[in-house]
Amino acid sequence: MAAKNYLDLKSEVWDTGKCSGCGACVAVCPADAISFDEGEMVLAPKSNGYCKQATDSVSCGACYAVCPRVGEQPAETLGKYLELACAKSTFEVPHKQSGGAVTAILANALDQGLIDAIVTVTEDRWTLKPSSVIITKSDVLVQQAGSRYSWWVPLLAALKYAVVERKFKRIAVIGVPCAVQAVARMRESDNDLLKPYGQAIRLVIGLFCTETFDYTALIQGKLRTDYKLEPHEIKKLDVKGKLEVLKHDGTTTIVPLAELETCIRKGCHYCTDLTAVLSDISAGAIGSPAGTTTLIIRTPTGKGFVDSAVENHKLSLAPGVDAAPIEKLASAKIKKNSKK
Ligand SMILES: Cc1cc2nc3c(=O)[nH]c(=O)nc-3n(C[C@H](O)[C@H](O)[C@H](O)COP(=O)(O)OP(=O)(O)OC[C@H]3O[C@@H](n4cnc5c(N)ncnc54)[C@H](O)[C@@H]3O)c2cc1C
Ligand code: SF4
Ligand code: SF4
Repeated sequence: MAAKNYLDLKSEVWDTGKCSGCGACVAVCPADAISFDEGEMVLAPKSNGYCKQATDSVSCGACYAVCPRVGEQPAETLGKYLELACAKSTFEVPHKQSGGAVTAILANALDQGLIDAIVTVTEDRWTLKPSSVIITKSDVLVQQAGSRYSWWVPLLAALKYAVVERKFKRIAVIGVPCAVQAVARMRESDNDLLKPYGQAIRLVIGLFCTETFDYTALIQGKLRTDYKLEPHEIKKLDVKGKLEVLKHDGTTTIVPLAELETCIRKGCHYCTDLTAVLSDISAGAIGSPAGTTTLIIRTPTGKGFVDSAVENHKLSLAPGVDAAPIEKLASAKIKKNSKK
């Protein structure tokens, strides 16, 4: 039987509002036929109508095989792991979100030659507009620390450039859980078109995620129009049961989450994975004291990268992660979003 193609993806994911916006289908389409429009709340990609399989009957199915919204959804809270740790960078990371541990692990990996590129999301410091990037230098990585809550940029679209154009062989990907699920499919799939991606990805770091916000709806709409906060005035956003907006002048504005309901990406309402259970290392704020990052070290690969950062005095680890609030939040997410 022919593999499922973009028409199946369209009817099962794009047209049902389940798309997370991870961009994996855009990345792996060998005909470059799938893309995202720019604009507010673009819910799913679109096709230009050409499909190797549907149009020319040539075996493909890459877009369907990679999509994290197809098939069974993760339903674990913490997932499998080797170790939990409260972690922080031992050097200054100016814009770090929690303890700067993600930056420390990856900066060390670049400096030690363990990886040659990182695919992640950065933002323009003037407009806060997110974009997916490839980073190859640790000093650039350090300047790009911090979390982008209003990411809807198809993160994994940058992966195509990294694998196909730049031909990097040892790539680290940082992503929220939906992106991590797509990368896991690339690593495990027997679809020949996904294998070059799977083989090039050396490390996957997953960021905890309850939901994300649409850039235009949150930054240009809610914060700029309703709260009179210009993007360039904002130093940092943090979500802790409410949205905290820290300005460069040191003041903080609190926005209740109830007010942000219309800014949440629709596809997030189908997501049951808080802790990125399919990553090598997961990282979050919850479960550790302020100024440190909770690390869930899941695989021997992940442990190797953490150990190297510790040995090179880039990262410090301490025990004491409180797993209870993580499990509680993860269970609530599963319960809320798996009914659909
Ligand atoms: C959308 C989103 C929602 C989150 N929700 C929660 C939550 O509910 N609870 C919780 O405990 N933690 C949450 N986190 C994780 C938390 O904000 C921190 O990212 C985590 O604790 C790591 O902190 P750090 O200081 O070690 O990372 P840093 O050293 O600051 O490094 C972060 C790295 O992540 C990259 N990055 C930032 N945003 C993205 C993105 N959207 N996609 C891919 N890469 C990105 C940056 O480029 C940077 O390299 C969320 C993160 C994001 C992006
Ligand atoms: S969830 Fe990701 S792979 Fe699936 S349709 Fe949306 S962008 Fe494509
Ligand atoms: S809540 Fe889920 S679908 Fe939404 S951005 Fe986070 S990981 Fe992706």
